[in-house]
Amino acid sequence: MEPWIGPEERKAVGAYLLSQGWLTEFRKTEEFEKMIRRYVGARYATVVTSGTAALAVALLSKGIGHGDEVIVPDYSMIASANAVLLAGAKPVFIDIDPKTLCLDFKRTKKAVGKKTRAIVLVTLNGRYPTIEEFVRLARKKNLFLLEDAAQSLGSRYKGKHLGTWGDAGIFSFSVPKIITTGQGGVIVTDSRVLHDRIRKIKDFGRIRSGVDEFETLGFNFKFTDLQAVIGIEQMKKLSLRVRRKKEIYARYRTLLKDIPEIEFIDTNLKNTSPWFIDILVPERKRDALMRFLGKRGIGTRPFYPAIHTQAPYRYLKKNFPVSQDISKRGLWLPSSSFLEDAHIRRISDTIRKFFK
Ligand SMILES: *Cc1c(COP(=O)(O)O)cnc(C)c1O
Repeated sequence: MEPWIGPEERKAVGAYLLSQGWLTEFRKTEEFEKMIRRYVGARYATVVTSGTAALAVALLSKGIGHGDEVIVPDYSMIASANAVLLAGAKPVFIDIDPKTLCLDFKRTKKAVGKKTRAIVLVTLNGRYPTIEEFVRLARKKNLFLLEDAAQSLGSRYKGKHLGTWGDAGIFSFSVPKIITTGQGGVIVTDSRVLHDRIRKIKDFGRIRSGVDEFETLGFNFKFTDLQAVIGIEQMKKLSLRVRRKKEIYARYRTLLKDIPEIEFIDTNLKNTSPWFIDILVPERKRDALMRFLGKRGIGTRPFYPAIHTQAPYRYLKKNFPVSQDISKRGLWLPSSSFLEDAHIRRISDTIRKFFK
């Protein structure tokens, strides 16, 4: 999944540099934020340096930190958990639902304890659980519901954009995401109070931009106008890209449908714009399939590992059966927005040959 940079971005960067802008965040960043908040339907949007920073700043904006526990899924991109530690709080891992690859609701509900302050609800690859259940639970238990929608730009649930169901949501603009600014992330919320804190925390805690008086502890997670001019052009192409991603997924699904060893995760393409093409195969065949495809010039990538198996969390010594199983069976197929139908056919034919 490579970035899609065209003449529009090149022209916009050139024009910006000729305008002698100061590179750092200013008007272009505001314009980019406005486009994002309109697209997703949120009252406020604040761009920061990365999706990881967006998660940490969102937690900090709610005063979550040392001594607090935050529920995160054991299966996600590792940043979902690391950002909790960056904010100073402790991640508590919960297994996922095999149908959606998102947090399992029953297990989440059971895990809420005295120290739990927040839930990081990851909507992986634009898929979602029954979100209202999480919203209700968060309200009832007074928890901060933070949606990690890093992979969900362009995906909706019941007509409402993912990332706008919780108290706050984040998206990422790193290179492999559906649109990119090289690096970058955004926090969206409808809360004026959170929004004000977020703006301060990303700018050293300043009471307002350009004034050296600090109201809270803050850092530097500021964006740049140089990235924003690229982001603005990328946003203009988002709808086109969302449409193509859905077509690519549908084509793979049709072409691979009758191979018994391949399992697709239930995906409603009306709502979900899959970012990566993901399939499940028998564990004992995955590596051989990857090698077989690799030899024929087709790149693939195994799913993320279960987070608790990675160095920073290995001390946990816990079992998360679904997350472990999914991470061993999952495979990402070529997912570039540039894939042509003929490419998808050739990839699918090669996979079929392997299973024969
Ligand atoms: C990419 C990603 C992140 C981290 O975003 P960065 O911009 O790379 O820091 C967090 N969560 C999920 C689910 C992601 O896919």
